[in-house]
Amino acid sequence: MPRAELEQLQLGRLRTTVELVCNQVPFYRQALDAAGVRPQDLRSLHDLQRLPLTTKQDLRANYPFGLLTVPLDAIVRLHASSGTTGKPTVGPYTARDLANWGEVMARVYAAAGVTGQDIVHNAYGYGLFTGGLGFHLGAERVGAAIVPASGGLSKRQVMLMEDFGATVLTCTPSYSLVLAETAQELGVDIRTRLRLRAGIFGAEPWTEAMRQEIEAKLNLEAFDTFGLTEMIGPGVASECIRHDGMHIAEDHFLPEAIDPDSGAPVPDGEVGELVFTTITREGQPLLRYRTRDRIRLTREPCACGRTMARMSKVLGRTDDMLIIRGVNVYPFNIESVVLKVPGLEPHYLILVDRPKDQLDELEVWVEASAELWQRGEYQVRETEQKLHKDLADTLGIAPRVRVREPHSIQRSEGKARRIIDKRELGS
Ligand code: AMP
Ligand code: ZN
Repeated sequence: MPRAELEQLQLGRLRTTVELVCNQVPFYRQALDAAGVRPQDLRSLHDLQRLPLTTKQDLRANYPFGLLTVPLDAIVRLHASSGTTGKPTVGPYTARDLANWGEVMARVYAAAGVTGQDIVHNAYGYGLFTGGLGFHLGAERVGAAIVPASGGLSKRQVMLMEDFGATVLTCTPSYSLVLAETAQELGVDIRTRLRLRAGIFGAEPWTEAMRQEIEAKLNLEAFDTFGLTEMIGPGVASECIRHDGMHIAEDHFLPEAIDPDSGAPVPDGEVGELVFTTITREGQPLLRYRTRDRIRLTREPCACGRTMARMSKVLGRTDDMLIIRGVNVYPFNIESVVLKVPGLEPHYLILVDRPKDQLDELEVWVEASAELWQRGEYQVRETEQKLHKDLADTLGIAPRVRVREPHSIQRSEGKARRIIDKRELGS
């Protein structure tokens, strides 16, 4: 769709959404009043910036059903995101929300070249988490054969991928590496015995370097895919075969990038906090939801022909930035360095500690490859030194590093947990 036409569509849908929440949700009626905006004031998409922002705290304060626009009767599905602290975030769907979810998820597959001929091995977790059922819905919509494997029991997963001839793998990027490792342990040569040609990986941050690792280890083309429970789950944005940013389903989710401190809009091409407004959701529409994800937006046309805006890979979170001795450290940067050092595996852990009366300490553990480990202590120490130097150069502070034995760092079946910040444990 040409952008001018798309923007007309967005404006109409935005007005409908604002009217809906203004009429049905006391929280939004008050917030719109406080901002001095009425639905009829929205004359162009620029007026979006006049609308109030919504935060995770607002969702918590209205837990579980305070932001619904419809009676619970009209809700046919309730998902929830794994909050590590406190109450989860609720994702309520009407029948039409589910239909739209199928639609945007079908686009995710289509953009990766997946068709009705494919066999999709879906190892995203099934359950409250939106990943499993979201990828399930979209695969059915494109008519692919879906294998609802969910997470865990990795050996069985490898066997099923081989026996059923899976051509597409969907799971978190970290779990894809666990599957690669499991295949290796089982003596299953991925190149000759599996038929995977594409992988659609998301739900957690991963770098370009990680993409190369995954593509090499699993012998497939890896696509980044993005979503969040608050919007709909997966299906919000996804890569096309150009791998030049993720196309946002902009006819359903209006993107903005803002300065996280001032709230001012950030121009296309510059890093800002991603903010989304749902413009077709019925169950729980949200205005200008602050995702806390740091990204760049572009509205330049893509070589693939799609006109939808694109977002960069997630460059970190506005709230996962570690501040260590006054230096801002992004886990994203640590991963990029780790994956460039030869002899290391993409399994790592970041530990931050505040020893009593001492400066904060950053420690990075990374697993050695089996080859490096076999070459002995001296080589391992040498790699450790290189990693230490590269990290210090990139981060601006010197971390302690430990290159550890293969398989010594815990694997995850879903989103990887790579940061242990002991300062949060009440020191
Ligand atoms: P949840 O609602 O629990 O699925 O978590 C959503 C969050 O997961 C997003 O706000 C992002 O921080 C993260 N996330 C999802 N997809 C990606 C991705 N492709 N790259 C980086 N982070 C992602
Ligand atoms: Zn494209």
